[in-house]
Amino acid sequence: MKKIQMVDLQGQYAKIKDVVDPSIQEVMDSAAFINGPKVHQFQKNLEDYLGVKHVIPCANGTDALQIAMMGLGLKPGDEVITADFTFAATVEVIALLQLTPVLVDVDPITFNIDVEAIEKAITPKTKAIVPVHLFGLAADMDAIMDLAKKHNLYVIEDNAQGIGADYLHSDGTKTKTGAIGHVASTSFFPSKNLGCYGDGGAIFTNDDNLAHTIRGIVNHGMYKRYHHDVVGVNSRLDSIQAAVLDAKLPHLDTYNEARRNAARKYSEAFKDHPKITVPTGRTACEGICGTCDCHVFHQYTLNLKDVDRDALVAHLQEQNIPCGVYYPIPLHLQKAYADERYNEEDFKVTNQLVQSVISLPMHTELDDEQIEFITTTVLNFIDGNS
Ligand SMILES: *Cc1c(COP(=O)(O)O)cnc(C)c1O
Repeated sequence: MKKIQMVDLQGQYAKIKDVVDPSIQEVMDSAAFINGPKVHQFQKNLEDYLGVKHVIPCANGTDALQIAMMGLGLKPGDEVITADFTFAATVEVIALLQLTPVLVDVDPITFNIDVEAIEKAITPKTKAIVPVHLFGLAADMDAIMDLAKKHNLYVIEDNAQGIGADYLHSDGTKTKTGAIGHVASTSFFPSKNLGCYGDGGAIFTNDDNLAHTIRGIVNHGMYKRYHHDVVGVNSRLDSIQAAVLDAKLPHLDTYNEARRNAARKYSEAFKDHPKITVPTGRTACEGICGTCDCHVFHQYTLNLKDVDRDALVAHLQEQNIPCGVYYPIPLHLQKAYADERYNEEDFKVTNQLVQSVISLPMHTELDDEQIEFITTTVLNFIDGNS
């Protein structure tokens, strides 16, 4: 059996080397390292793929979130609502811009931001909501957009884990995640579903004016060379990364399908077990996850009941099966973001999930033998056979 990895970037690269290498070589030969034609080409291709009017590439997913918030003109003291159960980047940029983060609980089944909790947290100071399509599953965007409209708020989708996912609207139509809110961010960190070979990110919007503002912000606030109209940042996607991404983009749907296939096999083995809850799609989608395309499985995450999760993690490690706990600490309890405004009663779900979730290896190169070994090892441990 091939060595099991949490993410197998070497295996994936070996299969596309013949496309990626010449694409990188082109950049080397042209020496157009910054803002070269490859960046433009990738931007256009991603706009077409997502069905979004503007893609503005930038240096990483954290910058993308920050720049989106700067572009919307959010001001110190404005409240921004986001999920308590996610990667820290989301709340980090809110705090960096001296906006006020308002963390709210998540849904116990989808792990995504709880729409009722958002509604309860809205005050006259609230300016924006940041839903995260956590682990690759689209958040409840229809409900979030309705709420935002009602209260005149911006919606910034954090699509770092969801690229390629479809959101199924209640009227049966589909939109790619990242093309629904007023603006969205994504990351091309190597292990993301569309990853480059270094750092990279992008901002998406359908709003022409906002796109123009953001194009200036990523480039030192310049709209005309050496005229600095607003305070900006330096945040660029370099041409070599764009070359990698442009070579990988045509494979994104196949990659996401490979992830869904692996998820289907995992879920087949674990479903109906009284101590295991497998990932589920939104109720709008049919059946267990893996049968709909609203989930692109950035992570495959189980929720355990009456299982010593940390002992399972140790056991898997002994068996050379890598796994992860995303995320082990609720953001509202992180030292940097703790605040006496928060009430533990309001975070029942996150406080539970941090103790009971476990993410199994998930990538495009998993084979049946590996999946079989992983599921058997997990089940044997939980059923007390090992
Ligand atoms: C990875 C990630 C980010 C940050 O992306 P970087 O490119 O690493 O800065 C932001 N939000 C979420 C949900 C992520 O998973």
